[in-house]
Amino acid sequence: MTVMYQHGTLANLVPGGFEGTMTLEALLTHGDTGIGTLEGLDGELVILDGTVYQVTAKGAVLTPPATATVPFANVHPAAFAPGQPFAAGGMADAVRQFVTAIGSVNRFAAVKLTGRFQTVSARAVKAQVAPYPSLVATAADQAVFDRSAVSGTLIGYFAPALYGGMAVPGFHLHFLAADHTFGGHVLDFGAVSGTLAVQRFADVQLHLPDAPAFLARDLGGDDVLGQIAKAEGSQK
Ligand SMILES: [Zn+2]
Repeated sequence: MTVMYQHGTLANLVPGGFEGTMTLEALLTHGDTGIGTLEGLDGELVILDGTVYQVTAKGAVLTPPATATVPFANVHPAAFAPGQPFAAGGMADAVRQFVTAIGSVNRFAAVKLTGRFQTVSARAVKAQVAPYPSLVATAADQAVFDRSAVSGTLIGYFAPALYGGMAVPGFHLHFLAADHTFGGHVLDFGAVSGTLAVQRFADVQLHLPDAPAFLARDLGGDDVLGQIAKAEGSQK
């Protein structure tokens, strides 16, 4: 039974808790597949086969050093069920089919869709410097990239709505083009055909930061779910 591992919480990002609190090297000991962001919300991470790709707000795809740190990330050791042929008319249709494929909205799951997408719209947040602004202010300044006729991998997680605050409720999806020239946090996509693999988790490990800034922060004063929905645009 594999464990979905999460470092940090979305709720901590809401008031600007963007300090990196775990190295990529340490993160990768908990899985070879995942998503996240770097210190300062410097771009969007896609982790595939043990390699961490960073999509920056300039649209570049980099491979950050193992010493780079994350304020938030999800990883798991890939042990996906055998892939199934998949086709959808767009994101809403795909998300409905993802729910059917994961079988229940009461447990966490990972989805990995590899295929050809008619269009993908993805965003990357811009690196911020301390003292950090709020998540909503940061997201308002994001860079959005659109690509047509793109092959690549959509990777992400489903979190039951009741865990909103810990995670993005519903699906939190990132994308990396097969040629590594495009990607980010997925806002929308068009028709797609490819292969869908899912991995379900009965076990979730939430690892919280030791950083003094995290320990001292008041996380009770914000409209956490409203701010997350505004900044992350969760797909249910
Ligand atoms: Zn994201």
